[in-house]
Amino acid sequence: MEQFAKTGDSCPHPDCSEYGKRQDGKQKNIQKYGKTKRGVQRYQCCVCKRTFTATTGTIFYGKHTSEAEILETLALLAEGSRISSLSRVKGYKEDTILSWLRDARKHLEAVEEILLKDYRVKRGQLDAMWATWETKAKKDTWKRLKVDNFGVPRIWIEIHV
Ligand SMILES: [Zn+2]
Repeated sequence: MEQFAKTGDSCPHPDCSEYGKRQDGKQKNIQKYGKTKRGVQRYQCCVCKRTFTATTGTIFYGKHTSEAEILETLALLAEGSRISSLSRVKGYKEDTILSWLRDARKHLEAVEEILLKDYRVKRGQLDAMWATWETKAKKDTWKRLKVDNFGVPRIWIEIHV
Protein backbone atom coordinates (compact mmCIF):
# COMPACT_ATOMS: atom_id res chain seq x y z
CA MET A 1 0.00 0.00 0.00
CA GLU A 2 3.02 2.28 0.31
CA GLN A 3 2.81 3.47 -3.28
CA PHE A 4 -0.45 5.21 -2.45
CA ALA A 5 1.09 7.22 0.37
CA LYS A 6 2.10 9.96 -2.03
CA THR A 7 -1.45 10.67 -3.22
CA GLY A 8 -2.14 12.53 0.01
CA ASP A 9 0.95 14.69 -0.42
CA SER A 10 -0.69 17.81 -1.76
CA CYS A 11 -4.04 19.52 -2.03
CA PRO A 12 -5.68 18.95 -5.44
CA HIS A 13 -7.63 22.22 -5.40
CA PRO A 14 -5.83 24.82 -7.55
CA ASP A 15 -7.25 27.75 -5.56
CA CYS A 16 -5.64 26.51 -2.31
CA SER A 17 -2.24 27.67 -1.05
CA GLU A 18 -1.29 24.02 -0.49
CA TYR A 19 -2.04 23.11 -4.11
CA GLY A 20 0.71 20.94 -5.50
CA LYS A 21 2.94 21.45 -2.44
CA ARG A 22 4.66 18.37 -1.16
CA GLN A 23 4.42 17.87 2.57
CA ASP A 24 7.87 17.90 4.16
CA GLY A 25 7.16 15.71 7.16
CA LYS A 26 7.63 18.40 9.80
CA GLN A 27 4.37 20.17 9.17
CA LYS A 28 1.59 18.06 7.78
CA ASN A 29 -1.18 20.04 6.17
CA ILE A 30 -2.77 17.02 4.61
CA GLN A 31 -4.23 14.45 6.93
CA LYS A 32 -5.97 11.16 6.53
CA TYR A 33 -9.69 11.64 6.89
CA GLY A 34 -11.45 8.29 7.07
CA LYS A 35 -12.37 6.21 4.07
CA THR A 36 -15.07 6.23 1.45
CA LYS A 37 -17.81 3.62 1.43
CA ARG A 38 -15.64 1.61 -0.91
CA GLY A 39 -12.64 1.80 1.40
CA VAL A 40 -10.67 4.36 -0.60
CA GLN A 41 -8.49 6.56 1.59
CA ARG A 42 -9.88 10.04 2.04
CA TYR A 43 -7.71 13.03 2.94
CA GLN A 44 -8.42 16.47 4.27
CA CYS A 45 -6.44 19.61 3.55
CA CYS A 46 -5.97 21.54 6.80
CA VAL A 47 -5.74 24.83 4.94
CA CYS A 48 -8.89 24.82 2.81
CA LYS A 49 -10.64 22.12 4.87
CA ARG A 50 -11.77 20.30 1.74
CA THR A 51 -11.50 16.56 1.49
CA PHE A 52 -10.32 14.48 -1.42
CA THR A 53 -9.49 10.90 -2.24
CA ALA A 54 -6.54 9.25 -3.89
CA THR A 55 -8.34 9.49 -7.23
CA THR A 56 -8.86 13.26 -7.04
CA GLY A 57 -6.67 14.87 -9.65
CA THR A 58 -6.46 11.74 -11.76
CA ILE A 59 -9.99 11.45 -13.10
CA PHE A 60 -9.51 13.85 -15.96
CA TYR A 61 -5.82 13.23 -16.26
CA GLY A 62 -4.34 14.65 -19.44
CA LYS A 63 -7.15 17.14 -20.11
CA HIS A 64 -6.28 20.75 -20.89
CA THR A 65 -8.90 22.01 -18.48
CA SER A 66 -8.38 21.68 -14.74
CA GLU A 67 -10.27 19.00 -12.92
CA ALA A 68 -11.92 21.58 -10.66
CA GLU A 69 -13.25 23.43 -13.70
CA ILE A 70 -14.55 20.23 -15.27
CA LEU A 71 -16.21 19.17 -12.04
CA GLU A 72 -17.79 22.59 -11.64
CA THR A 73 -19.20 22.36 -15.15
CA LEU A 74 -20.59 18.91 -14.37
CA ALA A 75 -22.08 20.22 -11.13
CA LEU A 76 -23.85 22.98 -13.06
CA LEU A 77 -25.11 20.41 -15.53
CA ALA A 78 -26.45 18.29 -12.69
CA GLU A 79 -28.14 21.37 -11.26
CA GLY A 80 -30.06 21.72 -14.47
CA SER A 81 -27.99 23.93 -16.75
CA ARG A 82 -28.24 22.95 -20.38
CA ILE A 83 -25.14 21.88 -22.26
CA SER A 84 -25.84 24.53 -24.89
CA SER A 85 -26.01 27.37 -22.37
CA LEU A 86 -22.97 26.13 -20.43
CA SER A 87 -21.12 25.99 -23.70
CA ARG A 88 -22.06 29.62 -24.38
CA VAL A 89 -21.34 30.91 -20.88
CA LYS A 90 -18.11 29.01 -20.26
CA GLY A 91 -16.82 28.97 -23.79
CA TYR A 92 -16.35 25.22 -24.15
CA LYS A 93 -17.61 23.29 -27.14
CA GLU A 94 -20.63 21.09 -26.47
CA ASP A 95 -18.57 18.15 -27.69
CA THR A 96 -15.92 18.95 -25.09
CA ILE A 97 -18.48 18.99 -22.29
CA LEU A 98 -19.92 15.72 -23.56
CA SER A 99 -16.46 14.19 -23.57
CA TRP A 100 -16.07 15.19 -19.90
CA LEU A 101 -19.37 13.49 -19.18
CA ARG A 102 -18.10 10.37 -20.87
CA ASP A 103 -14.90 10.46 -18.82
CA ALA A 104 -16.86 11.16 -15.66
CA ARG A 105 -18.96 8.13 -16.39
CA LYS A 106 -15.84 5.96 -16.42
CA HIS A 107 -15.03 7.12 -12.90
CA LEU A 108 -18.62 7.24 -11.79
CA GLU A 109 -18.04 6.55 -8.14
CA ALA A 110 -15.22 9.02 -7.62
CA VAL A 111 -16.99 11.75 -9.59
CA GLU A 112 -20.27 11.28 -7.75
CA GLU A 113 -18.54 11.35 -4.41
CA ILE A 114 -16.84 14.66 -5.20
CA LEU A 115 -19.96 16.24 -6.69
CA LEU A 116 -22.10 15.17 -3.74
CA LYS A 117 -19.62 16.21 -1.06
CA ASP A 118 -17.71 19.18 -2.42
CA TYR A 119 -20.25 20.66 -4.82
CA ARG A 120 -23.40 19.92 -2.83
CA VAL A 121 -25.10 18.36 -5.80
CA LYS A 122 -28.07 16.22 -4.84
CA ARG A 123 -28.35 12.51 -5.54
CA GLY A 124 -31.47 12.98 -7.67
CA GLN A 125 -29.78 15.67 -9.73
CA LEU A 126 -26.92 13.32 -10.51
CA ASP A 127 -29.26 10.55 -11.58
CA ALA A 128 -31.12 12.99 -13.79
CA MET A 129 -27.85 14.14 -15.35
CA TRP A 130 -26.74 10.61 -16.22
CA ALA A 131 -30.18 9.83 -17.62
CA THR A 132 -30.10 12.93 -19.80
CA TRP A 133 -26.58 12.17 -20.88
CA GLU A 134 -27.40 8.63 -21.94
CA THR A 135 -30.23 9.87 -24.12
CA LYS A 136 -27.98 12.45 -25.71
CA ALA A 137 -25.15 9.97 -26.16
CA LYS A 138 -27.44 7.51 -27.88
CA LYS A 139 -28.68 10.20 -30.25
CA ASP A 140 -25.08 11.15 -30.99
CA THR A 141 -24.26 7.52 -31.63
CA TRP A 142 -26.83 7.36 -34.38
CA LYS A 143 -25.69 10.67 -35.81
CA ARG A 144 -22.10 9.49 -35.77
CA LEU A 145 -22.96 6.11 -37.27
CA LYS A 146 -24.61 7.85 -40.18
CA VAL A 147 -21.79 10.33 -40.64
CA ASP A 148 -18.85 7.98 -40.31
CA ASN A 149 -18.70 5.76 -43.34
CA PHE A 150 -15.20 4.56 -42.63
CA GLY A 151 -13.65 2.87 -39.65
CA VAL A 152 -15.24 2.01 -36.38
CA PRO A 153 -17.30 4.78 -34.80
CA ARG A 154 -15.25 5.71 -31.76
CA ILE A 155 -18.13 7.00 -29.67
CA TRP A 156 -19.94 3.70 -30.08
CA ILE A 157 -17.00 1.85 -28.61
CA GLU A 158 -16.78 4.28 -25.70
CA ILE A 159 -20.38 3.76 -24.78
CA HIS A 160 -20.76 0.06 -25.36
CA VAL A 161 -17.46 -1.50 -24.40
ZN1 LIG B 1 -6.32 22.80 0.27
